[in-house]
Amino acid sequence: MKSGLGFDDSGENECDVCSTDFTDDEGGITEYFGILPVAFCPDCLSSMCDMVSQLMGWGEEEDE
Ligand SMILES: [Zn+2]
Repeated sequence: MKSGLGFDDSGENECDVCSTDFTDDEGGITEYFGILPVAFCPDCLSSMCDMVSQLMGWGEEEDE
């Protein structure tokens, strides 16, 4: 869980995208956007990875 500009060691987090509660054991991620602490649940994390992958054009080589 976020506390100030960091994370405590409770292992319980709230997703910053969909507000779902999740624990470290369920997956997801707690990281920093620059200095801003953010938490993403497993679903939003995989969605975000998909979005970044599309933005970067990864995996489109076979379309040539
Ligand atoms: Zn989420």
